Amino acid sequence: MLTPLSLSPSFGFGDRLGLATPGHIAAVRGTKFAPIFAQQSVRENARTGRTPQQVMDEARRAVDAAGWDGPWGADADHLKTPEDIPPFVAAGYTFFTVDPGEYVDNAADTDALEALKQKLTGFKWDELSAVYLGDEGEQAWGRFEAETLMRATVKYGKAIGHAVTMFERLSDAKDDFDFEMSVDETDSPTTPFEHFFIASELTRLGVRFTSLAPRFIGRFEKGVDYIGDPDALDAELAKHAAVTADFGTYKLSLHSGSDKFSVYPLIAKHWGERIHVKTAGTSYLEALRVLAKHEPDLFLSIYSLGRDCYETDKRTYHVSAQLDQLPQTEDLPALLDDFHAREVLHVTFGSALTKFGPELKAALAKHETAYYDGLKLHFDKHLGLLS
Ligand SMILES: [Zn+2]
Repeated sequence: MLTPLSLSPSFGFGDRLGLATPGHIAAVRGTKFAPIFAQQSVRENARTGRTPQQVMDEARRAVDAAGWDGPWGADADHLKTPEDIPPFVAAGYTFFTVDPGEYVDNAADTDALEALKQKLTGFKWDELSAVYLGDEGEQAWGRFEAETLMRATVKYGKAIGHAVTMFERLSDAKDDFDFEMSVDETDSPTTPFEHFFIASELTRLGVRFTSLAPRFIGRFEKGVDYIGDPDALDAELAKHAAVTADFGTYKLSLHSGSDKFSVYPLIAKHWGERIHVKTAGTSYLEALRVLAKHEPDLFLSIYSLGRDCYETDKRTYHVSAQLDQLPQTEDLPALLDDFHAREVLHVTFGSALTKFGPELKAALAKHETAYYDGLKLHFDKHLGLLS
């Protein structure tokens, strides 16, 4: 049943080709996770040339064919403007991820006090200080003092305001839905203290949100494992979990969740049941793994195009792969286990689909069992480490 998933532990499977859901169903069956089978951002729709309705129809067809009778959701991912909303509402999406990242003032971390005070005009500072500057004492996420509250207000105040507008717009159009605010793609990490401020302000302003995606420390690049200090992340994730536990009304959400194998045990430990993870790129890369094994000519064409388009296509992504670091190898499937090749192949999916979409889909249809088996194996690893 297509439905809001509310506070159930949940896992998002993005499927850019519209062919992966049978493999996703096989992997998620029997786990504690409620699945999101349709999940596509506005950016991905633009690059894949698919509409929200097509993404939904393809997921629904697979759900019906597999006889999946549990709850499942559909995520309208990274909505940025009110104009982004209506096509997803019309197609029956149940989970709306609002990304007000463009309204986040990253400079507020380091602005001098005078500059900060100037930026505060336009915010209801008297009201905010009355709400937050009582003596709550030291919490796991820190304590409110005038300066930290000022920085949090300037950094996230406009983003929160935009999320409120988006929530109101959605509420006019739908009764019951999951609502997430994500700031995961901003430059500056979200401290546990700022996380508390965001959750508190959204709550105070009447936004019923079911998940929140802060920008965590370190680098969560697409389709590869975490880059950063795992001990520092461990301590940070514990503090974020303390904030979430204090509210008890929403889940933490991990974006760019594909292949973060070193992070899963940490979030399983700290976040417990209040967890949502989004993946997308890895299902596309598993499709390419099938081609690398069974259709090497097509794979090589896609890989060559990827190298040509990487410098341009990577601009809207957080990736650090370098073309001169690509391995020289005849073993094509091994490229799918290489950091640089994975990122190059991942961020150029739009170019690949534009040029080779029909061939790619036909090849996968021909080797669908191999694709579903590969997806199951790969996501068993994800979901096992998260349980
Ligand atoms: Zn994201």
